[in-house]
Amino acid sequence: MEDDSLQRANISDFNDNYSSSSNKKNTKCLIITIVIIMLSVLSVYFLILLRKTPKEQKEKTNLTHYDYLIVGAGLYGSSFNYLARQEGKTTIIVEKRNTTGGNLYCENVEGIFVHKYGAHIFHTDNKKVWDFVNNFTEFTPFQNQPFAKLGNSLYSLPFNMWTYHQLWGVLTPEEAQNKIDEQKYHGEVKNLEDQAMSLVGKDIYEKLIKGYTEKQWERECPNLPSFIIKRLPTRFTFDTNYFNDRYQGIPVGCYNKLIDKMLTDTEVILSTDFNKDREKYTKMADKIIYTGKIDEYFDYKFGKLEYRTVRWDNEIKDTDNYQGNAVINYASKAVPYTRVIEHKHFEPHNKEVQELKKTVVSYEFSEEWDDTKEGYYPVNDEKNSELYKKYKELADQEKNVIFGGRLAQYKYFDMKDIIEDVFKQFNI
Ligand code: FAD
Ligand code: UDP
Repeated sequence: MEDDSLQRANISDFNDNYSSSSNKKNTKCLIITIVIIMLSVLSVYFLILLRKTPKEQKEKTNLTHYDYLIVGAGLYGSSFNYLARQEGKTTIIVEKRNTTGGNLYCENVEGIFVHKYGAHIFHTDNKKVWDFVNNFTEFTPFQNQPFAKLGNSLYSLPFNMWTYHQLWGVLTPEEAQNKIDEQKYHGEVKNLEDQAMSLVGKDIYEKLIKGYTEKQWERECPNLPSFIIKRLPTRFTFDTNYFNDRYQGIPVGCYNKLIDKMLTDTEVILSTDFNKDREKYTKMADKIIYTGKIDEYFDYKFGKLEYRTVRWDNEIKDTDNYQGNAVINYASKAVPYTRVIEHKHFEPHNKEVQELKKTVVSYEFSEEWDDTKEGYYPVNDEKNSELYKKYKELADQEKNVIFGGRLAQYKYFDMKDIIEDVFKQFNI
């Protein structure tokens, strides 16, 4: 009996001991688990933090391998760069010119921002695009309201009630419409001439379109595609705003400010042609974003795509106001330039600039392109469109290269189109 109770007592001691050591072990396990969980949460947090901070992005520029190597620091390359970095990707840019911004680059001359590669007005109907660019810099409200000069007469552009009044003395939309209906072309539209004649009739075509267009393209209007002229709005109101878009403006501090912000902390290798050492640069990244000429990328194997080029003769004039407007088009073929740009009028709200006793004026000449010149306008005629198709087929097979922007897609893009295209790459 005694033995039995002793045995039971021992068993109970044993049980007590067991349960107290098991409790201690449980607590220990719990603490270890909590510590492990806390450490994991902290390390994930730090990883996220590291990917996002600009400091890390800066450090990453010293890497030898990147997620993206971007060819060209124009609007396409710069927007892509910004959005890729927002996703924590590493990027590096190779740029042929010694400046960033591509054709948006502005030069400061006598305190005035000169749009070095032609007048650029940002316009879009897409609020997402507008909000995106406004994130980087403030925009000056600006509407392009050019005039066409023919002999000693000035006509309002785009074609609107003022233009019809100046041409025919008409006073109402109905009178203007009747005047156009009398002379417009009703047949099938096969080219730019048909298109213009069917939109605005013979008078406007002959006075304000034919000369300007043939000077700009150095081709006869019947040999040009109709879509070129579709960009010009035609209205029966007194609205003289060149663009229909709801949001319009020019960055305060010009486009350099916008581009610089998009390129914050990014290494940009200037004055370097990607195509001169393609192999080396291709190895530097998982993916290439190529915004150069598509035919050049493929060593012109099917031939060269053609462009129109533009030359600007810039003059500093000793006057505060030379022509009273940012843009004046010259409709006559006898005048060698297509338009004259007076840059200070792109900053109408900048009192300091307006009061300067100097002004910078650019005479814009449209010229035939050759290899030594910058290509500005793709010539989207049948021959070039066929050629582009062949290069596009090759481009589609390059799985690690995205071909983007005006040169790689051989297409005239407005700035808003470029940003919309980049958005698509990020599913925005
Ligand atoms: P780009 O600006 O040409 O940039 C491409 C960059 O790639 C360049 O910097 C180039 O040097 C670089 N590059 C090319 N090849 C290589 C290589 N092999 N290696 C390294 N770098 C390379 N749009 C509007 O919305 N409003 C306007 O008012 C307007 N006005 C315009 C006026 C003119 C005269 C012209 C020509 C265009 C105008 N545009 C306007 C269109 C606007 O310029 C384009 O939408 C925009 O510049 C396209 O950007 P991108 O990056 O595709 O090309
Ligand atoms: N255009 C014209 N007369 C003008 C302005 C334009 O006939 O005064 C025609 C011309 O064919 C030109 C097209 O309209 O190529 C588009 O003009 P826009 O000003 O949009 O072209 P940009 O040169 O600014 O790209």
